[in-house]
Amino acid sequence: MEPNPCLACGACCVSFRVSFYWAEADAAAGGVTPTELTTVVSPYRVAMRGTDQAHPHCIALEGEVGVQVYCRIYQQRPSPCREFRASWENGERNETCERARARYSLLPLAPALSTVK
Ligand code: SF4
Ligand code: SF4
Repeated sequence: MEPNPCLACGACCVSFRVSFYWAEADAAAGGVTPTELTTVVSPYRVAMRGTDQAHPHCIALEGEVGVQVYCRIYQQRPSPCREFRASWENGERNETCERARARYSLLPLAPALSTVK
């Protein structure tokens, strides 16, 4: 099995605003993302702290981008993070992943040999 490329990357966690519906960070509403790690960005939306700024860096990201990273709330990460796929993870290219990696001088991921037709 191929190693998870995200564990040696993290570029998307330091490239974009990660915003989502407020209830995902409200335990009373069934949310699991820690409220204290979010900031309000509109009446209905919050963002991961650190991502709503000119040079985003999610507060939950640990480690060194492009070397070794992990998300310290991985099991509680919000929907944009759960839904974001590394390029070719599902056999499809993700240009947003590639754009984030390029910002940190990381080459685009290559498709797995098993997905090349
Ligand atoms: S930019 Fe792509 S490879 Fe890097 S952590 Fe995000 S999804 Fe994974
Ligand atoms: S919550 Fe985790 S996966 Fe989502 S941006 Fe922050 S560090 Fe990345």
